[in-house]
Parts: sequence; structure tokens; C-alpha cells
Amino acid sequence: MIVLNDTHDPNLKSWVTSSNITGSDFPIQNLPFGVYEKGKNKERPCGCVAIGDQIVTLSDCLAKGLLTGKAKKAAEAGAGPTLNPLMALGSGYWSDLRRQLSILLRVGGAKTELQELLVPMSGVEMCLPAAIGDYTDFYSSINHATNVGSLFRPDNPLLPNYKHIPIAYHGRSSSIRISGTPSKRPFGQLKAPDAEFPVLDACKRLDYETELGVFIGPGNKLGETIHLEDAADHIFGFCILNDWSARDIQAWEYQPLGPFIAKNFATTISPWIITMEAMAPYRQKMFQRPDGDPKPLDYLTSVVHEETGGLDINLEVAISTPQMQKNRDTPHVIGSPIFCDMYWSVFQMLTHHASGGCDFRPGDFFGSGTISGAKKNQLGSLLEVTLGGKEAIEFPNGETRTFLEDGDEVVMRAWCHKDGAARIGFGECRSVILPASGSKSK
Ligand code: CA
Repeated sequence: MIVLNDTHDPNLKSWVTSSNITGSDFPIQNLPFGVYEKGKNKERPCGCVAIGDQIVTLSDCLAKGLLTGKAKKAAEAGAGPTLNPLMALGSGYWSDLRRQLSILLRVGGAKTELQELLVPMSGVEMCLPAAIGDYTDFYSSINHATNVGSLFRPDNPLLPNYKHIPIAYHGRSSSIRISGTPSKRPFGQLKAPDAEFPVLDACKRLDYETELGVFIGPGNKLGETIHLEDAADHIFGFCILNDWSARDIQAWEYQPLGPFIAKNFATTISPWIITMEAMAPYRQKMFQRPDGDPKPLDYLTSVVHEETGGLDINLEVAISTPQMQKNRDTPHVIGSPIFCDMYWSVFQMLTHHASGGCDFRPGDFFGSGTISGAKKNQLGSLLEVTLGGKEAIEFPNGETRTFLEDGDEVVMRAWCHKDGAARIGFGECRSVILPASGSKSK
């Protein structure tokens, strides 16, 4: 169920004035959690919350004695180097912490106690917000699946299972990095269509995938399932995810078991976790399946889910070439996908993932799959934009790209806005491509 409370009141203002500026990603209605490195030598990662362009450290709120009850316990769990203990507590604790932080940070709150303890975001480095145990990547945009399928099977782009199962593969959590960390072009086996044998070489067709990342809360026991109606209580929150993809490595290796080296060399996520509760105003009707499409099986549908399973999120992916960075040009927007076009909801993905009894642990993570809309300007990967590298994109300065080159920076953003609710943003997910290093095969 969607519970709206006074933390969502669009008229709320904070004494942290930067959060009240129109267009701020982090107004008082957002209050996302993250982890930053504190101290002279950045030796102490600690849990925090974003407000405007400032950070509030959870341990500071505790030291000042500003939190009570469940909120105090939640802050104690979230004050350490990862948010996993906070994620484990469950939605009652998260909600109480959000409410007390909202009261402390709103006009008339704890300005006297906290103002001197605010930390400017610009002066710190953010860390991964959780120790991510397991990572799964879904494939839930039917537009993306159709576009990619069309490149390989023009007459039969969607495989028969697509409209029945939220498709996914198990990804690699060890190579997930926080926004701002460079990503190295991978080496891998490449085989040109007309070549007899593969060679080991640097990827020539490096791509991004614009996705939503989902952090799991308390989780379930092995052998237990997660009912669709309970799925929201198992989701701690959301971030932006760039699932870097080496298309030439992928093309040679993906059959029969799916992506491997093409995906496991790097994944970049944005640092702030937008909580499930902060997203409440942006829950909406599910994507309406076209007439003739099958209904999902019973465990993946319900009346409530049809009304509230969708998420109204706008995304944007942009590229900044080395030349553009040198000239301080604005990164050029390549695609503006919308999440409400997704064929499967985050709740269906989670419920299906657990339907065989697979257990989730606090801090486990999954990606939505590349988010692509039906229009040409709503595509979430270069593979789709350039039709598999056949049509180059041109930037305002005349440079062109089919796939990413060394030094290119990919910048993703996401935000939610609608009448009657405060606009909230996700911040940025950015990373620059470093050259491959290694040796070619002869
Ligand atoms: Ca992906």
C-alpha cells in the first residue's frame, strides 16, 4: 500500500536553504541515504542523509540526542560504514527515521543543533552505500528487448517467454563501483562474423545501459517466497545504474548461458538511495499491456498491483567527449527514457526472483534492465540509438560516435515530478572510460 504522510507535504521547507531551491534533487521530501568517507584521511565511512547540497551525518544526530525510539535504533544501524544493518530493520524503522529526520530538518527544527555539523556534498567522496552480496540484472523494458531482438532476429524479435517471465541473469557484485570511479575498457574474446577464429583484444563496441537499481531490505529465508503485495516492504530504495556492456564480447560469448565477461568488468551506481517511502507519490498504474498480450500468472498480478505497481521516473543519459570536457561543454543528452513504460514492475521482478525459494539478504541488489521508451529519443543504450553501430550519432561540436571511446564520460540522471508533489531527484551516475590495458593475442 502507498502511505503518504506529512513527510511528503510539497509545502514543507527546510532550514537548509539550498534544498528549497527549485530543481534541487534533494528537497526535504526526498531524504535519501548514503555513505561518505569522513575524517582527514577519509578513513571512516559513515551513513548519512542528503539535504540540498549538504550532508547530515547520522552519528551526529545520535550524538546530539535528537532521535528517539525506532528512529534512534535505525540511525544507530545506519551510522556505520554500510547501510546493510539499517536495510535489515524493515520499513517501520526506516519510516520512523525518515519522519524524525524530516522534523529535525524542516523550518523550526534542529537548526541550532545541526547547522554547524552539516558537511558540504562538494567536499566529500561518497562510497558504495551497502556491501552488495548478490546482484541480478533484469530485462524488463519490452521496447529494449524488442529493439535488441530486432537487430538479431528481425522477424521474431521477442522470444516466447518474454511476456510471461521477468527475464534476468545473475550478475557480478564485486565490480560494482560508485559514481565518479573511472571504468576500464575490457579485454575479451572477439570474433568478427567473417573470421574463422576469435582473438583476445580490447573491446571495440563499448556501451552503457541506463537502468534503475533496487536495494533489498530485510529479505527472505531460503525456501520462502515474497508475495507480490509484500514486495514493497522488501525494497529499501532505488538508485541509477549504468550496466556497462561490451557488445562485441557479448555477441560471441552469450549463447547458450547469457552475458559473462561482456558485463562483469564494471557496473556504476549513483551514491544516494531514494527510499521506497520517498517514492510513494510517484507510484502509479502499471503499464497497460496491449490487447492480445497474455495476463501475468496469478502470483505476478493483483488489483492493487495494477493500480500502484508503476513508478513515474524520468531518466536521462548524456555523453561528454574529451573535447567537450576540455571546452567545458554541457554533456550531450543521447536518451531520455521513462520508467513507467516498463513491461514488468520492480515488485514483479522481486516476487518472481524469490518465487523458486531463492533468498535475499539485506543489501542485495538488482537492476531493472535497460530502460528504453518507444520513441527514438527515449533509448537507454547506444546499441539501440546507433542500430548496432550502423548509424553514428553526431554531437553539436561535429564529433561522432557509434560506441564509446576512451576518455568519454557517461552521465546519467533521474528525477520524479508531478503536480501536487515535490520534485525529487536521484543525483548523478557518472564515469569516464579508461583505455584497456593488457596484451593482445597474436
Ligand atoms: Ca543490463
